[in-house]
Amino acid sequence: MTVTENVLRHCPKCGSVRVHRSRRRGPIERLFSYLGGQICRCHDCCARQAWFGFSPFPIGNTDPRANPWAGIALFVSACAVCMVLMYWMVFRYTGISG
Ligand SMILES: [Zn+2]
Repeated sequence: MTVTENVLRHCPKCGSVRVHRSRRRGPIERLFSYLGGQICRCHDCCARQAWFGFSPFPIGNTDPRANPWAGIALFVSACAVCMVLMYWMVFRYTGISG
């Protein structure tokens, strides 16, 4: 671990700079990794995030009562909106719908 790789990464939960790369756990984190995210974990509060560039996306909530699917649902719905927009553009500019 180096200091430079963590200078710009702050834990979104507690603000700590002790955020380090972590191993992927399960298919969801593998999916994030496949999409270009880096799986990281905060050493102070143990929060896990998938980092896309400099924007963290919380995953693997350590609170057992929290719903881990809430974050995933948000991510999936954002992807769905993008796909709908793409389809809308394709149909609009190709004139299939009319
Ligand atoms: Zn933290």
